[in-house]
Amino acid sequence: MTPTELMGDPGPGGCFGRFGGRFVPEALVAACVDLEQAFRAAWSDPAFRIELDRLLRHYGGRPTPVSRCPRLSEEIGVEVLLKREDLTHTGSHKLNNVVGQGLLARRMGKSRLIAETGAGQHGVATATAAALFDMECVVYMGEVDIGRQELNVFRMELLGAEVRPVASGSRTLKDAVNEALRDWVGSVVDTHYCLGSVMGPHPYPWMVREFQRVIGEEAREQCRELLGGGDPALVVACAGGGSNAAGIFAGFADDTAAALVAVEAAGGAALTGGLPGVLHGMRSALLQDEVGQILEAESISAGLDYPGIGPEHAHLADIGRARYHSATDQQVLDAFQVLARTEGIIPALESAHAIAWVLANAGTDELPLGSTVLVNLSGRGDKDVAQVRDLLRP
Ligand SMILES: *Cc1c(COP(=O)(O)O)cnc(C)c1O
Repeated sequence: MTPTELMGDPGPGGCFGRFGGRFVPEALVAACVDLEQAFRAAWSDPAFRIELDRLLRHYGGRPTPVSRCPRLSEEIGVEVLLKREDLTHTGSHKLNNVVGQGLLARRMGKSRLIAETGAGQHGVATATAAALFDMECVVYMGEVDIGRQELNVFRMELLGAEVRPVASGSRTLKDAVNEALRDWVGSVVDTHYCLGSVMGPHPYPWMVREFQRVIGEEAREQCRELLGGGDPALVVACAGGGSNAAGIFAGFADDTAAALVAVEAAGGAALTGGLPGVLHGMRSALLQDEVGQILEAESISAGLDYPGIGPEHAHLADIGRARYHSATDQQVLDAFQVLARTEGIIPALESAHAIAWVLANAGTDELPLGSTVLVNLSGRGDKDVAQVRDLLRP
């Protein structure tokens, strides 16, 4: 690691410029420090890396391909490449993170995983890892979200996890994170908190980005193979907390001149519509009112309903290395159908935000005709088909 590295090790303070840090109660400082040290040791231990790589291959289905999109490219005049995280086991990039954290938890001697979940996707992923590593699993989920995502609640139960309803606050994701942190204060001896994105107190934003870095490392080499040694002009990903975006950006931020673009939900755009503040142990860009009350994010894709974004993204925006835009629900619904019809790929509604931005900007200065853009297809859309049907055929 060199100090000039953009997406490198943030050091013991966990700061990304003026963002990040570790704003947790005294009782959790030691837990975070232990976790940071354990991760640092594991990440530089070849045996850990080999075991993780083996699991991601033989259990997760990695490496995922980069696919050309001939029909879509022809239609919009821009060459579109897709990094196919939709093809990983369980259908999204989330598996990379939970397998990494599960393996780390086992190495730390923990027997129990806890997690927060909003739409249920990260809860399902954590329950999957808990089954894989034979660990007890408790997932905190807001009562409102439990009502909206019954099928994922059942999935978690099938996988052997207990879903604990959270009745405080707005009874959604932000409250589930608080409840999981509260559990961890009293349970840290045998429990690992498996956080779902590049957010929260140090070391999570850094650690989760490193577990997702595999997306970007693979994609950079795969693009060079497809493009005769060249890099795409642009790399685009959707961003809720920002983990799939951070993972793919990490492969390009330091080693290429590719422009980096993250696309938030228009109703949850922490970087385009938020302000700096402290929440869930980190300083970052947050949706809040003028007195600092956190606002509810709202979008067509439940997986992007987080009122903040990871601190490293706030920093990348600050220094201009990445740019942050948003897509509306209608643009997303259109993009969802366009990719299905032209390429035979039904994207997750989250991923459709990235496609929507490409469709809206093809042929502009952002994305000139003839340029090449790599899109991180973070997940597959099977989970969203019923919702989209109800929206299209009310
Ligand atoms: C959870 C999820 C996201 C949003 O999370 P990030 O941390 O921003 O990547 C995006 N896409 C899919 C398919 C998801 O399941």
